[in-house]
Amino acid sequence: MTPENASPITTHLPTGLSAVEQDIMRACKEARRDRASVTLVAVSKTFDADAIAPVIEAGQRVFGENRVQEAKAKWPGLISTHPGLALHLIGPLQSNKAKEAVALFDAIHSVDRPSVCEALAKEIVAQNRRPELFVQLNTGEEPQKAGIAPSEADAFIASCREKYGLPISGLMCIPPVDDAPAPHFALTAKIAARNGLVNLSMGMSADFAIAIAFGATHVRIGSAIFGTR
Ligand SMILES: *Cc1c(COP(=O)(O)O)cnc(C)c1O
Repeated sequence: MTPENASPITTHLPTGLSAVEQDIMRACKEARRDRASVTLVAVSKTFDADAIAPVIEAGQRVFGENRVQEAKAKWPGLISTHPGLALHLIGPLQSNKAKEAVALFDAIHSVDRPSVCEALAKEIVAQNRRPELFVQLNTGEEPQKAGIAPSEADAFIASCREKYGLPISGLMCIPPVDDAPAPHFALTAKIAARNGLVNLSMGMSADFAIAIAFGATHVRIGSAIFGTR
């Protein structure tokens, strides 16, 4: 590789990744947590394979996408040339995309309605794949946002398990943009604990240090790594 074509790769993108890595380490230290207890999900939505490849080269292995179709267009090529990657679906899932989602993703953070549960259960059996599953909470009860209301969470988690046989392992939340995130993270952690769920997908570029203080096991970080969208 010539220095000319190496420079945008080595100066720009891994800078974001290493700054985020340092901030995660600091947040873990302050919360007296092991760095290994937090998975960094690098959110690559809207960025193409050329922008993603240097982040993989810099050592990042777990990536998040919010659209099944976009991920299908970008990732099979990257996965075939970089073994050991994990891909997480962090955006809304429609039941008619469950087949493709189960085939491509290693984790799905957006389980939020019975039709999706039913479709996922069917595909998990048919494809013999076991993506890690998170129920998405709408902690701010925002009408435009996906997710289960906190008051309905216990019943929904129970029905995922009992009615559909889905091995739910965690909860995901996206706090309202204008709210302080801490109460939303605390509520999500509380609902997870009382339902025996070990994974907490919470925290984005602006608030992941707070999320780590509240027990996040998966932080979903896009712009702080890849730049503004
Ligand atoms: C885009 C997105 C993120 C990442 O957001 P940034 O602010 O860019 O870090 C995290 N979670 C979800 C669900 C997203 O859609």
